Amino acid sequence: MSRTPIIAGNWKMFKTVSEATAFVSEVKGKAEVAGVETVVCAPFTALPALVEAVKGTSIKIGAQNMHYEDNGAFTGEISGVFLKDLGVDFVIIGHSERRQYFAETDETVNKKTHAAFKHGLTPIVCVGEKLEEREAGKTDEVNRVQTTAALAGLTAEQAAEVVIAYEPIWAIGTGKSSTATDANDAIKAIRSVVEGLFGAEVAGKVRIQYGGSVKPNNVAEYMGESDIDGALVGGASLEPASFIALVEGA
Ligand code: PEP
Repeated sequence: MSRTPIIAGNWKMFKTVSEATAFVSEVKGKAEVAGVETVVCAPFTALPALVEAVKGTSIKIGAQNMHYEDNGAFTGEISGVFLKDLGVDFVIIGHSERRQYFAETDETVNKKTHAAFKHGLTPIVCVGEKLEEREAGKTDEVNRVQTTAALAGLTAEQAAEVVIAYEPIWAIGTGKSSTATDANDAIKAIRSVVEGLFGAEVAGKVRIQYGGSVKPNNVAEYMGESDIDGALVGGASLEPASFIALVEGA
């Protein structure tokens, strides 16, 4: 089954509005490769300008988080209503930095995943193990629990649309990447979890990215693996030349 590869940049807390639009001017027409979906996940403040800047290109814009309620007394939060209103297409949910620093749980990840679909946003749901969990041989178990919780209650159609980002926490922003074969094995195990939940057809459709110190010089290695459908990239997505090379490498 052929799945469209997806390269998504996660800018984290980097780039002002002018830096963000200057980035798009540089990557336009270059980080656009037939058969590869390209997404930039930016800080909330840059989203309106970015949505405008990518008009007429194939580049899609994503947020890095959302609240699961539509409206309410949640000071400082942004809901799917607002993201959809801006014209945003994707949203990262449950990034390990949010699980670690902002108390996101499997339960809130699941609520946010449902809320994303409610508002026509494609969720990029992050799962992945800590170093001590990997060393204890628990990688597949951690991914199984997180994936099962995140996808709970979705319809088969929704589950097929989710993008899962397998991001071993010890590899994020550390320069230590998982080997391509290890990442592929973990991703195959995640795909079989999806199969157990939703059946072989959905498992064959769902796109699962690898994330963790992906760079222009190693992206092709990951993309050469059977089950890796793209990458979620932090540091190396910030520079236009590097981002273009990542998309070309996919
Ligand atoms: C990320 O932020 O999701 C990530 C994988 O970061 P980096 O590419 O910098 O490891």
